[in-house]
Amino acid sequence: MSDIIQLLPDNIANQIAAGEVIQRPASAVKELLENAVDAGATEVRLIIQDAGKQLVQVVDNGKGMSGTDARMSFERHATSKIRNIDDLFQIRTMGFRGEALASIAAVSQVELRTKRAEDELGTYIEIDNSVVKLQEPCSANNGTSIAMKNLFFNVPARRNFLKSNAAEMRHIVDEFMHVALAFPQVFFSMTSNGQQVFHLERGNLKQRIVQLLGTPYNARLVSVQEHTDYLDITGFVGKPETAKKTRGDQYLFVNNRYIRSAYLHHAIMNAYQDLIPADAYPMYVLFFDLDPAHIDINVHPTKQEIKFDDEKIMYAFVQAAVKHALAQYSITPTLDFDLDPHVQQLDAINKPFTEDKQQYATSSSLFHTFTQKHQAHFIDKNSGLKNWKDLMQDTQQDASPGMQPVPRAGAALEIDWTTDFTQIRQQFILVPTNRGFLVVNQQLAHERVLYERLADAAHGKPMATQRSLFPISISCTPADAVLVNDLLPDLQQLGYALEPFGTNSFVVQGTPADVEQGNEKQVIEQLLEQFKHFTSNFKFSKREKLVRSMVSQQSIKAGKILTSKEMHALISSLFACATTNTTIDGAPTYIEFRQEQLTRMFHQ
Ligand code: ADP
Ligand code: MG
Repeated sequence: MSDIIQLLPDNIANQIAAGEVIQRPASAVKELLENAVDAGATEVRLIIQDAGKQLVQVVDNGKGMSGTDARMSFERHATSKIRNIDDLFQIRTMGFRGEALASIAAVSQVELRTKRAEDELGTYIEIDNSVVKLQEPCSANNGTSIAMKNLFFNVPARRNFLKSNAAEMRHIVDEFMHVALAFPQVFFSMTSNGQQVFHLERGNLKQRIVQLLGTPYNARLVSVQEHTDYLDITGFVGKPETAKKTRGDQYLFVNNRYIRSAYLHHAIMNAYQDLIPADAYPMYVLFFDLDPAHIDINVHPTKQEIKFDDEKIMYAFVQAAVKHALAQYSITPTLDFDLDPHVQQLDAINKPFTEDKQQYATSSSLFHTFTQKHQAHFIDKNSGLKNWKDLMQDTQQDASPGMQPVPRAGAALEIDWTTDFTQIRQQFILVPTNRGFLVVNQQLAHERVLYERLADAAHGKPMATQRSLFPISISCTPADAVLVNDLLPDLQQLGYALEPFGTNSFVVQGTPADVEQGNEKQVIEQLLEQFKHFTSNFKFSKREKLVRSMVSQQSIKAGKILTSKEMHALISSLFACATTNTTIDGAPTYIEFRQEQLTRMFHQ
């Protein structure tokens, strides 16, 4: 028997390794932007074609590379950022593993153009599938341009795994925003298919936040500044009134690297306790700067989780810093501001940070309020639905017979149209029938009606649009503009006529005929918020999400007084639906009470 073990050829080894670093176009965006920042660039331009599937290009004015370095940069483990093991614990650059360019070159076609200020000529290199095709001197601006073309052209299986352009664009915008937020002193721009998506002038963090997250945050940001021996916390949190029902404007950075942390998120939410509704999320952009020795840098570069050597101390610091900031800006009335005495020990006032303070803090009651379940504060996407199901089951098990919604099947049920319906507690409608009466939930009934109407429109005849007499323009954040652009045809189908109007702006030419005119801007903003609420739900198509958003936005809510005519119209629309007795989420739209069951309930 001959020996069977062989070394993998470089390009295959690289392709396999690349799978870890480059999962989608957005991964390349992150790596290339970080390289530009590491190279000291003050201007960075991102160019995208076809959601990055065709092209991801980053052009910077950083320090550039020599000809030899340019060639070397594509080798695996080639980095200028660390030299020995000690350096590993002092990392201040974004990259250090020397894997990104090698990975990108293994799964795409790369064109690099780079020049250092001190060189007369620059270097041009073309690489395909890890193989250098061409290297020659060229004229070039100072800095570096790297173009990644046809991602996964040589790994079709992975190319097929890429999501829709809209989904890949969302990832790209996310990565772009993370880097742009972390480096406000750098100019960034982004174009997609020739259209400008972002143009971010250099500025301070506050200006950058407003550029990226929207002008409503202007003058509604509270500065957080805490400096201790262990770490510095800086950044901004939104005033409580800016809290939203959807997640999205929450950003944490450790040594300028974007991270996710359910744990630290919980600490911040805790600081906002009683200031915002339980189901709302405050905006925050917070930077933690600490000695890299306190962080486990051995976490994989594409992972956004991070390990601190002392998680509890981080929790206490973050919560105290945010509370302190909110209190200082007299958002919490001073009297109400009852800072845990243990936390006061942690505050910046009590410098320097000593070992025993650390111990004291970690043993404080603060941590006992934090349960083991770090995820406990996350809203279960399905909880609404589940509760309804439970409720239904409860009703079916415990309640008297006859209190279940009765399907229309059997056709024996007939509404008594000759009587007046009665509205109870601005929430329910009493509807007499040939065999008893119905208690109709006005909101849920209307949700069913709207759903069938909008779902029909989404797949067939468009909804009627009422042209606006005075078209108004709305401007969005760049990220929302990407979303709106993507939704334009569907919005049109559902009665909203929006037209792009310059960068990140749209003109509202018309709205659905049966939606009141006058506050189009607010209506569309709310609609986007609703839509984002559903975005993590992959079960639904884009259109379905939009339809569901409109349903919850346009439905008659509990609390609305209805005229007799309106009640009749609602009940007749409900009974014209294909399904009458439940909402799309399975909640009952009405409960039937039958005469014989009522009689029995009175023991007769
Ligand atoms: P890392 O960033 O982890 O060092 P990369 O593969 O991303 O690894 O880059 C390899 C090396 O190429 C970097 O260490 C740097 O020296 C050089 N390099 C990459 N991009 C640029 C750039 N835009 N400008 C200057 N040098 C760059
Ligand atoms: Mg890098």
